Amino acid sequence: MASKLVDLRSDTVTKPSEAMRAAMAAADVDDDVLGADPTAQRFEAEMASIMGKEAALFVPSGTMGNLISVLVHCDVRGSEAILGDNSHIHVYENGGISTIGGVHPRTVKNNPDGTMDIDKIVAAIRHPDLHYPTTRLICLENTHGNCGGKCLSVEYTYMVGEIKSHGLKLHIDGARIFNASVALGVPVDRLVKTADSVSVCLSKGLGASVGSVIDPPAEIVGSKAFIDKAKILRKTLGGGMRQVGVLCAAAHVAIRETVGKLADDHRKAKVLAEGLKKIEQLTVDSASVETNMVFFDTMDPRISPDKLCAVLEQHNVLAMPASSKSIRFVIHYQISDSDVQYALPCVEKAVEELLKGGTEFEHLTNGTTKNSYGH
Ligand SMILES: *Cc1c(COP(=O)(O)O)cnc(C)c1O
Repeated sequence: MASKLVDLRSDTVTKPSEAMRAAMAAADVDDDVLGADPTAQRFEAEMASIMGKEAALFVPSGTMGNLISVLVHCDVRGSEAILGDNSHIHVYENGGISTIGGVHPRTVKNNPDGTMDIDKIVAAIRHPDLHYPTTRLICLENTHGNCGGKCLSVEYTYMVGEIKSHGLKLHIDGARIFNASVALGVPVDRLVKTADSVSVCLSKGLGASVGSVIDPPAEIVGSKAFIDKAKILRKTLGGGMRQVGVLCAAAHVAIRETVGKLADDHRKAKVLAEGLKKIEQLTVDSASVETNMVFFDTMDPRISPDKLCAVLEQHNVLAMPASSKSIRFVIHYQISDSDVQYALPCVEKAVEELLKGGTEFEHLTNGTTKNSYGH
C-alpha cells in the first residue's frame, strides 16, 4: 500500500507552498502595532481592492475577525445579533460574542441551503419594548460550512441587505467567500456589496497558514470609523501583532496563487461525491455539493462516523465526523486527482471491514475528533 496520506479533515490543513515560504523569508517588515509594517499595508490594500471596500484589517483568525466585527456593530450593551442556528459564529466560537462581548444571540433556523427565510429574519427583529434587547446586527455565512459548503447568492444577500432599512447592520462571515465567488461565477465584491463588514479566512481553501482579514462597509466615513474601532478591539483581544508582514507575505501569495485553483477543488469534490454514491451503505447527495465539501451519512450503526474515521486513518485517509451520523470530506489544493482516486477504494474497504469486523472495532474511536465535529 502506498505510504501517502490523504488529509481530508479540512481545508485548514494545507502546508505553506515553496512560494509562500520564499515570500515570508523575503518580506520587508516593521512593527504593525505602530502601523509601520509595509508588507501588511500592501496586503491590506490589495484585499480592500479585491473585496471592493475602502480598507482591510489583518487579524490572527476568522474567529477573531467575526468577534471584532460583531462587537464593532454591537458596541452598546443590550445589543442583539441575529444568527443562523447552524452558523459558525453560533456553534463554533465559544459563544464569544456573549461571553466576551455581552451581545445576545437571536438564532433563526438555517435552511439546508445555508439561508435563513427572510420573513423569519424580519420576525426576529425586536420592536422597541422595555423587555427586549435591541437588534443591531444580522450575520450571514457564505459559504455555509455546516450546511455542506453551500453558497448564498448575490440576490439573497441583496434581499437581506434590504432588511437594513430597519436600521440594522449586516456582517458576512465569508471564511470561504472565494469558494462561493468561484462556484457562483460572480466577483467576490458583488457578494459582499450589501455588507457592513466581512471576514475572510486566508487559512482555509486559500492555503495560507495564518490569518483572516476583515473589511469595513463601502462608504468612506463608515469605513474609517469601523477600522478605527476594529483596531482597538484587535489590540484588546491580544491580536495586535508586530512584524506581521511575514504572515501577510504568505497570505498575499495565497490570494494570487490559490483562488484560481478553487474551481478544481470543487470539481474534485464532485468526483469524490459521485464515487461515494456508489458505496451502498453511504448516503450522499452529490447534487448538493456546490463547493469543496462533501458530507455523507452512514445509517448503519456498525459504521458510525467515529469508527469509519478511525478505520480510514489505518488506510492513511484522514477525515472528521460532522455529526453522530455524518462525515465530512474537504478538498483543498493539496489534494490531487490521484488522492481522490486513492481515497475512494479506501472508504469502500473501511466500510467492508467494519461490516465484517463485528466487535473487533468496538474499541475504535478517533481520539482527535471524538465529539468534536469538524468545522
Ligand atoms: C473556520 C471558520 C471560521 C473561523 O476561523 P478560524 O480561523 O478557525 O478562527 C469562521 N467561520 C467559518 C464559516 C469558518 O469556516
